Amino acid sequence: MKERQEFDFCVVGVGSAGFAAACTARDMGKSVAVVDGSGVLAGLCILRGCMPSKTLLRSAEIAHVVKEAPKLGVIPRGADYDVRFIIQRKRRIIADFADYRVKRIESFPLFRGSARFTGDRELSVDGQTITARKFLIATGSVINEPTLPGLAEAGYLDSDAILELETLPRSVVVLGGGATACELAQYLARLGVKTTMLQRSARIMSFEDADIADALQGSLQEDGIELHTGVTLRRAEKTAAGKRIVAELGGREAVFDAEEIFFALGRRPNVDGFDFEATGVQYDRTGVQVDEYLQTSNPDIYAAGDVTGMWELVHVAVYGGQLGAHNAFTMLRKPAQFDLQMARAVFTDPQVAIAGLTEGQCLERGIEYEKAWFPFDDLGKAITAELTQGFIKMLAARDGRIIGVGIVGAEAGDLIHEAIALIYFKASVRDVLEMPHLHPTLAEIITYPAEELNERLKHQKHVLVTP
Ligand SMILES: Cc1cc2nc3c(=O)[nH]c(=O)nc-3n(C[C@H](O)[C@H](O)[C@H](O)COP(=O)(O)OP(=O)(O)OC[C@H]3O[C@@H](n4cnc5c(N)ncnc54)[C@H](O)[C@@H]3O)c2cc1C
Repeated sequence: MKERQEFDFCVVGVGSAGFAAACTARDMGKSVAVVDGSGVLAGLCILRGCMPSKTLLRSAEIAHVVKEAPKLGVIPRGADYDVRFIIQRKRRIIADFADYRVKRIESFPLFRGSARFTGDRELSVDGQTITARKFLIATGSVINEPTLPGLAEAGYLDSDAILELETLPRSVVVLGGGATACELAQYLARLGVKTTMLQRSARIMSFEDADIADALQGSLQEDGIELHTGVTLRRAEKTAAGKRIVAELGGREAVFDAEEIFFALGRRPNVDGFDFEATGVQYDRTGVQVDEYLQTSNPDIYAAGDVTGMWELVHVAVYGGQLGAHNAFTMLRKPAQFDLQMARAVFTDPQVAIAGLTEGQCLERGIEYEKAWFPFDDLGKAITAELTQGFIKMLAARDGRIIGVGIVGAEAGDLIHEAIALIYFKASVRDVLEMPHLHPTLAEIITYPAEELNERLKHQKHVLVTP
């Protein structure tokens, strides 16, 4: 590579957001350079996020199916877990995903090393200088540093470490109650680890509506997870047998002992060491600040993905990367549609998935809505398959338009896509009833709340009734 190179577009950090941005800009006919650190290429999702965690969760799910099999008259002749095999299978799968992604990344001029802005439109990467008309920052996130006194000294596992554990501890205390905490706590519990979860808020998944969070809490408890909410962590200690968390619970001191501690108290945007000051890009520990076009305070620099401090979701990162690259090179800039993009899932079993608005968001924004609810234990397919945990909840505006759907249940992460499409196309509850839904399927569960809402709302003047 030459000492100084010029491009139309330079992407800093080539994970999900950066890769999507680079591809979009190249498709627009721009010359594109990509810059990434000296570590392994391919991004968080492939290396230490979505894909490895879901590979492990599948093993835990199979372990659970084997345990539950007698309920369906299938008696397994003993089952054991081979955690080394589970981890090796994960490594094989992830290596294939990563190889494929790296080949595609290498189709761009690639600069490896620590990136540092040295001017408004100038970046230095280990002695090489890159200038570009436009930049996109997509440096992702890092695991939060633990602030709990004694934790660093006692030692702990984070999600990166859990995904690599070839020997599981006998017991673990999980600090946190977000998506990663819930998924990996269930993974551990289903492979026989005595698991205790400690959550500061009144419930896990504290952003979600209470009925959704309560249902997930119930199923984690059915897996044998001991769950405590409303916990104030005080300190961590090393003990002769392992580790200890000292906390306050219900006004009293409580002590939780385990062989290991899983620190799952989130990630923060990766903003340190880039010398953003040289560019006028405003940022703090909550992320690089962007407007609705994903433009930073420097008009030539955009940002997308976890580094912006938005929802840590791959589809949000990809969408942001594509939108940022598009907006960087067009007069017809598009604003981000985040209400729809914030569709999300937790890949526990049962899964949790949300599309559109929650009841909490409707109340906050003063949006009037009607709600209907239907349980999986009343749905034919769910009963035949013994997948009866959970429910679907649908929110509709007064004119019958669907504005939000929440599902706790088997395959919720897949089922939610019909709801995403309905909300995207501004469909009404009546539309759901006019669309065919095959029987018997889990997908037909969406027709039941739609039917109830249609019945209730058809007396309102705007609601569509059968011609
Ligand atoms: C355990 C776990 C499970 C998850 N599961 C899901 C899930 O099921 N579904 C979902 O939607 N999301 C999930 N996520 C979140 C998801 O992985 C992230 O939101 C997403 O990968 C972020 O993409 P990104 O492009 O913003 O960042 P990244 O993919 O992290 O990319 C950032 C890039 O910047 C590079 N970089 C960092 N520092 C520098 C530097 N100094 N110079 C140059 N380059 C640098 C990095 O090497 C990296 O390639 C999960 C996360 C975790 C941790």
